[in-house]
Amino acid sequence: MEVVVFTGVGEVEVRSEPSPEPGPEQVLVDIGACGICTFERRLFAGDKQWYPVAPGHESAGVVTKVGAAVDGLEGSPQVGDRVTIDLLTRCGTCAPCRRGKTALCRSRQGRKLQDGTVSFGGFAGRVAIEAKSVYPVGDAPINHAAMGEPIACCVHSLRQGGFQPGDRVAIIGGGFMGRLHLALTRIGGASSIGVIDISEERLDLAKQAGATWTATPEEALEVGGKQDVIFVTAMGGVDLAVEMADPGGTVVLYSAFDKELPATVGADKSHREEVAIVGAFSQEPQDWQLGSAYIRSGILADDLDSLVTATYDFETVTDALKLVTSEPTFRVFVEPPTPDD
Ligand SMILES: [Zn+2]
Ligand SMILES: [Zn+2]
Repeated sequence: MEVVVFTGVGEVEVRSEPSPEPGPEQVLVDIGACGICTFERRLFAGDKQWYPVAPGHESAGVVTKVGAAVDGLEGSPQVGDRVTIDLLTRCGTCAPCRRGKTALCRSRQGRKLQDGTVSFGGFAGRVAIEAKSVYPVGDAPINHAAMGEPIACCVHSLRQGGFQPGDRVAIIGGGFMGRLHLALTRIGGASSIGVIDISEERLDLAKQAGATWTATPEEALEVGGKQDVIFVTAMGGVDLAVEMADPGGTVVLYSAFDKELPATVGADKSHREEVAIVGAFSQEPQDWQLGSAYIRSGILADDLDSLVTATYDFETVTDALKLVTSEPTFRVFVEPPTPDD
C-alpha cells in the first residue's frame, strides 16, 4: 500500500509499505479519502517542523477484513461496511482516560512505518484498527464520511458548551469549523445562530447555509445582541465572546490559540452571572457515535457538500497541499490508490 510521508518544508513523498493485518479485535479498512486539516497544513508550510512524519487523521473507507473476535459480532462493523475512522489512541488507563476524558489521553499517539517513522494512519491505502474505533455511515458519500473526525470534534464542542435546543448561538469564524458548528446547532434546534467573520464572502456563504444573522466583529454585539453559547472557532475574538455572553452563557474555546493569549471573565461576572469559559479539544467515542449517525442519516448532506473544496489523488497530493497553504479553503480531500493485493 502507499503512504504519504512529509519529509521537509513543502516536501512530501509517496512510499510503499507492507499492508497491515488486523489483530483479533481489529478490522482492516481500505481508505477511500482523507481530509487535510490544520496539522497537515502547518507541517507542509513549515509552521510545525517535524519530519519525517506520515500524517492524516480525517479518513474514511470500507472494511475489507475483520479480526476473529469481532467477526460476525452483532453491531460491530463487518466486511463491506463504509466507515469513518477514529485514529486516536485512547489508552484507557491514564488519568484523563480513567475519568472518561479520552480526548485528552496522555499516551503517545500514532503508529509506526517500517523504518520507525511516526504515522497517524490517515494518508495511507489501508489501516488496521480496533473495530470499536470505526463507525458505519451507511451509503453516505466517502468525503462526507471523511468529515467524521471534525464533525465529532464539533459535537464535542456543543457538549462542552452545554448547548440545548432553543439556545441563542454565536459562532466566531465562518471557516470550515465555524460552518460545522452552524450546521450542528441548526439541526440541534438553536433559536438563532449568528456567524461573525471579517470576510464578507464567508458571511454570505454562512447566510446561505442557514445563519440567522451575520456580522463583522465590530458590529457583532449591535447586530446579534446577547447570546447563550458562543463558539470561538477563529484564532481571536475571545473578549468579544465574553462580552456577548448573557447571564448563564458559555464561551467555548474551540480554535487553537496563541499560547500567550489570555482568556478571562471577571470573577464577579463568573459568580453573579454564571458566565463560563470552557475549552473543547478533540472528541470522545460518544461524539463519534452521534456524529456518524448524522452522516449516515443524510441530515447534513447539503452542508457537507458545500464544504468540499476539491479532491486530489496521491500523485497530486503536493498540489492539494499547495492549495490549502495558499488560499482559504473549506475541506480538501486526498484519495489513495486501492492497494493491489
Ligand atoms: Zn482534523
Ligand atoms: Zn489515556
